[in-house]
Amino acid sequence: MSEVDFSKLNKITAKSFNDQKAIIKKVMLGREVKCKVCQKALILVPPTSSKSSAKATPQSGIYCPNGCTDIELDMI
Ligand SMILES: [Zn+2]
Repeated sequence: MSEVDFSKLNKITAKSFNDQKAIIKKVMLGREVKCKVCQKALILVPPTSSKSSAKATPQSGIYCPNGCTDIELDMI
């Protein structure tokens, strides 16, 4: 692992963390949220879907079909 500039990282994380919380809230309420980058509807992968086989199923979270948005529910 190389050195990480934590001050920079924290700044970015704090801002996107609030954005992500707002997005998660909307998606959890069944509202359609579009990706900021490509305007495609984000896909919710609920935590319950990882019951069957932990390795085969993707991590629970909210994803853009094109991969530009990737929010893991674990970090909330
Ligand atoms: Zn996208």
